[in-house]
Amino acid sequence: MAMVDGRRTASQRPMDHGGAGTPARIREFLDRERPATPCVVVDLDTVRERYAEVSEALPEARLFYAVKANPAPEVVRLLVGLGASFDVASPAEIDLCLAQGATPESISYSNPIKKRSEIAHAHAAGVRLFAFDSEQDLEHLAAEAPGASVFCRLLIHSDGARTPFGKKFGCAREMAADLLVRAAELGLDPCGVSFHVGSQQTDPGAWEVGVADAAWVFRAVAGRGVHLRLLNLGGGFPASYVEATPSLSVYGKAVQEAVTRHFGDAAPELAAEPGRAIVGDAGVLRTEVVLVSRKSYDDEHRWVYLDAGRYNGLAECEGEAIAYRIVTPRDGGPVGPVVLAGPTCDGDDVLYQRTVYELPLDLRAGDQLDILSAGAYTASFASVFFNGFSPLPTHCIGARG
Ligand SMILES: *Cc1c(COP(=O)(O)O)cnc(C)c1O
Repeated sequence: MAMVDGRRTASQRPMDHGGAGTPARIREFLDRERPATPCVVVDLDTVRERYAEVSEALPEARLFYAVKANPAPEVVRLLVGLGASFDVASPAEIDLCLAQGATPESISYSNPIKKRSEIAHAHAAGVRLFAFDSEQDLEHLAAEAPGASVFCRLLIHSDGARTPFGKKFGCAREMAADLLVRAAELGLDPCGVSFHVGSQQTDPGAWEVGVADAAWVFRAVAGRGVHLRLLNLGGGFPASYVEATPSLSVYGKAVQEAVTRHFGDAAPELAAEPGRAIVGDAGVLRTEVVLVSRKSYDDEHRWVYLDAGRYNGLAECEGEAIAYRIVTPRDGGPVGPVVLAGPTCDGDDVLYQRTVYELPLDLRAGDQLDILSAGAYTASFASVFFNGFSPLPTHCIGARG
């Protein structure tokens, strides 16, 4: 993405999509079924392809699909069939996975922020693998999930993520080492460490810090009689937005090299928790232009109001973190700058005003726009009924969906 006057430029011209536009299978479905907008269409065949690609990039790693990225039952069922494991954050996500045929052994409760009652629910459902990052959660785990395998989430600093986690999760490596020893004392099975480099991580080198800290923890606790075996690399692998990222194989290579550099011959078991990379590119959000207007006679920008906004699918436009590729039915003609906004009466329901989008000058109310790579963190982020706008429906196609 180029910088123009200090602003990120998402120059929206047809050629930016590699000439591809809306993926053919999804376009055929939309043309045939004409579903009400806004909606997301997820192509399960693409989910299958992406799962294979991530597996190929990280051949040593057991993959736990991060359910929050797209919890459509059809997506979970497909991944169960492909042999995936699942990263969940709540009892409801556990129940969803089990209902779609996942086994309790394939589920990792990777959220370190949980109530005792939620741990008890997970344990009763047969889940035996949990993340933690605090002594209190560890004590709750010892009480409600006695003997369970637990891994400690490390707090790491990494740049390059388009939607970073900040400091909310994880603890410093010294504390992690103490807590893992404490886990053993509490009768739990301290099995390893995890970290997350932030979502839509644009730098494949970002895993380096986490892997180095993890190796430090492995060595520190080994000296105290605790032998760890699992390194969970988290998520962060990218989908395809306006800003180009390296291929998944480049990420795989960088991660593998970091593991070799810091663990040497004592390679741990690897796990990863991809969400966005599995489902992002599989979805298209179809939306309709509600209005096109200007704020004054000399305003160079047109305001384009869509029927999808921050509250019904496009939450990741907050801070303009994610710049989606957009296809219009009028691509190819002359374009001009626009501000894109959602339909609600909330002043924050603006999608892009700093990121420069240029859309066709003859765009008008009723035109249908396709927002590409919208399979992750869209429907799952939609509000229940803010301002009377419905949650975003998902239609799954392909793979007998
Ligand atoms: C959200 C989340 C993921 C998925 O991250 P992506 O960037 O979508 O791959 C993985 N692990 C944990 C613990 C998460 O919270």
